[in-house]
Amino acid sequence: MRMETFIRKALRLKAHTVIKVEEDEAAGKLVVHLERVGQRRLRCGVCGLEAPRVAPTRRPLRRWRDLAMREHLVELQYAPARVWCRWCGLRVERVPWADQWQRVTHALARAVATLARVLDWKSVAGHFRLNWKTVAAVVEGAVLWGLEHRRWHPLHVLGIDEVSRRKGQQYLTIVYDLDRRRVVWVGRDRTTDTI
Ligand SMILES: [Zn+2]
Repeated sequence: MRMETFIRKALRLKAHTVIKVEEDEAAGKLVVHLERVGQRRLRCGVCGLEAPRVAPTRRPLRRWRDLAMREHLVELQYAPARVWCRWCGLRVERVPWADQWQRVTHALARAVATLARVLDWKSVAGHFRLNWKTVAAVVEGAVLWGLEHRRWHPLHVLGIDEVSRRKGQQYLTIVYDLDRRRVVWVGRDRTTDTI
């Protein structure tokens, strides 16, 4: 399978496609060039509905970081279209690979948000080679999403784990909801006060 096809499938693109993947050796990254497909309909960046028309002018080129491939950073490049939305008027399209104001793809945002539960933001930024402001924006986005989508169910089965981050040093206490297989809380130290 060609690299372009592989990335198109991984990003689940329908109205867009990968036209070229280039290696930027100096920067150690793969640059993925995206374009829209023919006359497929695009979505409004505000309400998310399919827009009946696409305006002739584009927005300037934008870049999004995606999950790295081995040691290579991956960067998507695309000039978003403007669409005429029935309800919102002339707006920038909603791209399917990232939330509107984020500089990383959904996949990278999920990885960042997960690691940010157990590491400080600076370490997370270092791990993914991102600016800490990008990490902050992802975490804030994840918290907002969580608040909007959370329903509090009673916790029936709790699992509690203690993780030492470095041998003999700092401990984290992690509380799991075993029924629903997710982390509900992470705290520093391992005292009963933490619980
Ligand atoms: Zn709209």
